[in-house]
Amino acid sequence: MGYPEYQVIIGLEIHAELATESKVFCSCPTTFGAAPNTQVCPICLALPGALPVLNEKAVELAVKAGLALGCEIPPFSRFDRKHYFYPDLPKAFQTSQLDHPLCRSGIVEFRVDDQTYQVRINRVHLEEEAGKSVHSGERLQGSHYSLMDLNRGGLPLIEIVTEPDLRSGEQAKAFLERLRTILRYIEVSDCKMQEGSLRCDANVNLSINDNGKNVRTSIVEIKNLNSFRAVERAINYEAQRQYEDYLDGNMSLNAGKITAGWSDAEGRTYVQRQKEQADDYFYFPDPDLVPIEISAEQVESWRSQLPELPAEREARFVTQYGLSAYDAGVLTAAKGIADFYETVVENFDGDPKIVANWVMGEVLRMLKDAGDEAEQALAEAPLKPHMLAELLQLLQSGAINGNQAKEVFAEMWTSGKDAAVVVKERGFEQISDTAAIAELVNAVIAANPKVIADIQGGKTSAMGFLVGQVMKKTAGKANPKLVNQLIREQLNIT
Ligand code: ZN
Ligand code: MN
Repeated sequence: MGYPEYQVIIGLEIHAELATESKVFCSCPTTFGAAPNTQVCPICLALPGALPVLNEKAVELAVKAGLALGCEIPPFSRFDRKHYFYPDLPKAFQTSQLDHPLCRSGIVEFRVDDQTYQVRINRVHLEEEAGKSVHSGERLQGSHYSLMDLNRGGLPLIEIVTEPDLRSGEQAKAFLERLRTILRYIEVSDCKMQEGSLRCDANVNLSINDNGKNVRTSIVEIKNLNSFRAVERAINYEAQRQYEDYLDGNMSLNAGKITAGWSDAEGRTYVQRQKEQADDYFYFPDPDLVPIEISAEQVESWRSQLPELPAEREARFVTQYGLSAYDAGVLTAAKGIADFYETVVENFDGDPKIVANWVMGEVLRMLKDAGDEAEQALAEAPLKPHMLAELLQLLQSGAINGNQAKEVFAEMWTSGKDAAVVVKERGFEQISDTAAIAELVNAVIAANPKVIADIQGGKTSAMGFLVGQVMKKTAGKANPKLVNQLIREQLNIT
């Protein structure tokens, strides 16, 4: 008897910090990295009697995120208190949304290799961030004391909940990358996983076909995955663990949610505890905040402010510039890079595919180490898009060759000098003066009668020798295309 077949069922819960200037219920600033507890006030410290005031910008950004994810925006939405007791939550409840989220029922497309998938979005709701515990040791366990930094408390968050439509760690990672691209395009969040402004929890279980009987393992929620790679690895590990435990008879079935942590260093999950059900949080509508009512006109006005989204831009790159779907996908994965590409194309009199090759090759190579900061690094680079266009023009005209162009590019990237200046400084300018080259060609032909006889006898491969001789006389500066052409003309070879 073979092993039973199974399918991995994955749903994600993603928290993204919104890029507002002030917190969601008070006017404290949101800048990252300030000294502990310097960005706090009676409201976000939860002092008695302090009342929240909703930041309208947070609502706008949350709705824009929902719209970009294909969601509907109900006309009525409200806040609920979600109660739990943890030192980073001074009110002892988080202001969140339960039954009436801002956005519902979206859909997002993403690709793995050449395959397109869709994930349904259950909801996008607005809530507040908790503070940050700083332990004296590596983690809570084993620490002598812990300190609380409430700068982060009260930052606006959106929680995006997907339907369980993902089927592998690879799919989850690709979806999350697509989600980050979208949120960055519309500038609602900077989505830096390392700084915690994008966080992901993954719900994983298995649907197993055991001798015709469908069995489902209990859902395990893996918390606080803080890199794309961790999301992929943790899900694949957990699915395998559940399957093996099931075969061994050790996997609990339909037991409600179980939470687990992920150790990146050990490459394994740790099952922690039975998760609270919604009832355990004693949710109820927050009496301090009035419900949010958003008119259809307001929604349409926000929708009209959205930029071209990544999927649309990718499709346009294919039709407008004749790029492959793959190239269009790479170039539009970050808005700043797509903008850079299009500006070079606008300034370049030639094939947009040449520009695509240079941006995907030389430019992205320079940005490789910047990781999450690639767009910023590109914006700050001394090399500007019109300068790359000028370099490519020199290459296309034959004034310099491909290898020289790469060298010039590397210097322009750091120095910000114009292409023509670097070409001159390095003495790269090719000799494209027909009369001067023709003179050298004639001299080389006269000096090599045996080679000429070989060529005229049919051994055309000896042409390379003649071209080489001319190149040598010009220290490599002759335009090789022109040399070749003149030799052929002299010898009457077509
Ligand atoms: Zn505050
Ligand atoms: Mn949440």
